[in-house]
Amino acid sequence: MSKYWNKKINEAEPYVAGEQPKAGVKIIKLNTNENPYAPSPKVAESLAQFDISELRLYPNTDGGELVQAIADREGVKPTQVFCGNGSDEVLALCFQAFFEKEGNTDLPVLTPEFSYSFYPVYESFYDIRAKKIPLREDFRLDASDYAGVPNCGIAIANPNAPTSRAISLDDIAFICKSNPDSVVIIDEAYAYFAEPYETAVSLLPEFPNLCVVRTTSKSYSLAGLRIGYAIASEELIEGLKRARDSFNSYPTDRLAQKIAAVAIRDEEYHKKCRERLIATRKYTEDALRALGFTMPESAANFVFAKPPKGVPAGLLYKKLREKGILVRYFDKDVLRDYLRITIGTDEEMRALAEACTEEIKNVQNS
Ligand SMILES: *Cc1c(COP(=O)(O)O)cnc(C)c1O
Repeated sequence: MSKYWNKKINEAEPYVAGEQPKAGVKIIKLNTNENPYAPSPKVAESLAQFDISELRLYPNTDGGELVQAIADREGVKPTQVFCGNGSDEVLALCFQAFFEKEGNTDLPVLTPEFSYSFYPVYESFYDIRAKKIPLREDFRLDASDYAGVPNCGIAIANPNAPTSRAISLDDIAFICKSNPDSVVIIDEAYAYFAEPYETAVSLLPEFPNLCVVRTTSKSYSLAGLRIGYAIASEELIEGLKRARDSFNSYPTDRLAQKIAAVAIRDEEYHKKCRERLIATRKYTEDALRALGFTMPESAANFVFAKPPKGVPAGLLYKKLREKGILVRYFDKDVLRDYLRITIGTDEEMRALAEACTEEIKNVQNS
């Protein structure tokens, strides 16, 4: 609390990001869903060739060559692409541009009961009413729960975080069709880790109310660069640009635009990393299940795993931390029974499995 802060800031409940350990501390970091592999080697080439005098000039407000790279990759028009400083910023602008303020229509935004924990932060910060839609057994999202519920918009992460489960394109089409007057945000931060890969971008010709949000942070190994983007109808993209230009006309810088464009165009490297990660996820699921963990089938670069009976997730989280392995633990209703574990390299996941084996034995013998 501060007397210098306004009421809104005094009352805000900001998002709490996963811990970033100090440089130089040896730690296995499986807590914020970063990619264990380096970005495309073409990024280094591009950086070496970068003409620093370019930095004198403001960047292209829309993202320049980056927009073209995304449009080419996704098979859409450049006017259907909006770039921002990470998808968190793109999502924040979506909530401001498309969802109603309290006291306006008073209709809520619908989000799954357990989903990306930034959504409630935006809702409260932008005075948007919210309604959480319960998930079914084993965190399954049932699309029919999103029909016939009055709302001013819908936001769903697909695959969902932290549950790791995905819904089908048919489900997304059903939700868009059932809510023609609302914008439906599909947050595809983890889409490239689903097997088989599918994207709601393919539904855009049918649904002008669909807004697909993606990021280079996870599958392109560029969390440090801060590039996220929305792909939608020109009408929605224009709305996002109006919101952006009421706040900051240059959300993405020249270096980031260049680097992200190079990484997005290197499809071969992206595919290789994706396949490697999916194989390691399979190994991790098998190893943890063999130890008695239960978890939904993951379509993301993390698993949402419940430790075996008698081993509290909070305790295991602490024990792993003492061993230098960081995973994510949400000390909240229902979620507190689970650990969200990012998929790292094979070596890191072997170390995780070994540490779990040891700690589970310790707990069961004590
Ligand atoms: C990681 C994540 C984001 C944020 O990505 P940035 O582009 O790094 O801001 C958005 N949505 C979900 C569901 C995420 O897990």
